[in-house]
Amino acid sequence: MIIIMKPNASGEAISKVTKLIESRGLQAHLSHGDEVTIVGVVGDKTKLGGINFEVTEGVDRVVSVTESYKLVNKKFHPEDSVIPVGNTTIGPKTFTVMAGPCAVENREMLLASAETVKKAGATFLRGGAYKPRTSPYSFQGLEEEGLKYMKEARDATGLNIISEVTSLRALETAVKYVDMLQIGARNMQNFELLKEVGRSGVPVLLKRGLAATVEEWLNAAEYIISEGNPNIVLCERGIRTYERSTRNTLDLSAVLTVKAKSHLPIIVDPSHATGVRAYIEPLSKAAAAVGADGIMVEVHPCPSCAMSDGPQSLTFEQFETMMQHLKPYVELAGRA
Ligand code: PEP
Ligand code: MN
Repeated sequence: MIIIMKPNASGEAISKVTKLIESRGLQAHLSHGDEVTIVGVVGDKTKLGGINFEVTEGVDRVVSVTESYKLVNKKFHPEDSVIPVGNTTIGPKTFTVMAGPCAVENREMLLASAETVKKAGATFLRGGAYKPRTSPYSFQGLEEEGLKYMKEARDATGLNIISEVTSLRALETAVKYVDMLQIGARNMQNFELLKEVGRSGVPVLLKRGLAATVEEWLNAAEYIISEGNPNIVLCERGIRTYERSTRNTLDLSAVLTVKAKSHLPIIVDPSHATGVRAYIEPLSKAAAAVGADGIMVEVHPCPSCAMSDGPQSLTFEQFETMMQHLKPYVELAGRA
């Protein structure tokens, strides 16, 4: 439920409302907008029995939130969130580019990738150290050694680093190195992992599950935020449909539905969505045009030698060219 305060409600009136809520053992979540303050209440509403907020001083009206996700709901927080990560922020005024190899394969390829993506204008280096591979016989990642190379790349370039965690064990190690954790599509509904990521407080990129609805995805984000971590960015990376001409089907309209339902930023990953190198640039432009807050793209010094996802990885040169071509689209979208 949300309590919408009158535009001229005093600080005292707002504080009285929050105290009333807290006196019944519930938490009040405040959202101060330009015009009005909204007080959100999560939990068992029956505990508020006997309190009539509609007649409490400074209250304009009370609206019940029917969706099962509350704290990530736009009704709780009508303004778009800006998420601080490392030395930057992700949100509605910027277009964040995260780029790098699918997996950290060795020190040299990672450092070379970092230099290149930094020079071309990316602010994040991606690189998997724990790889969720379809086959147990495929390369599983360098684990902590990979994270050490990621940290070295950050120290050398100033890029923020993001890497996926696939288990509680990986999480314990990764929090010592990364600026941002990634929860991959396969773990979007690993609720124990989501809760631990929530408790870690480290910013997190939450990818959409392979066959998840937007509602399921936002509920997954609610698991993280309800454990006290509001620093969540969503990532649309394609969903499994009957269409097999691309690896997945990029659901660009999800950018719009997420923005209508939630205040969290959302970026687009055209690499895993399509699996096709030639489609990355046009879909990155489309992501900017539709209002996404950024992209995540795979780049590799030698895509044909890559240990994973070579066919969808851009060469260094292709990435540099794409970043040039993307500029006017980002500007047209009113972002920097
Ligand atoms: C990845 O980004 O490395 C990855 C495995 O992506 P996804 O979880 O979207 O498949
Ligand atoms: Mn990949």
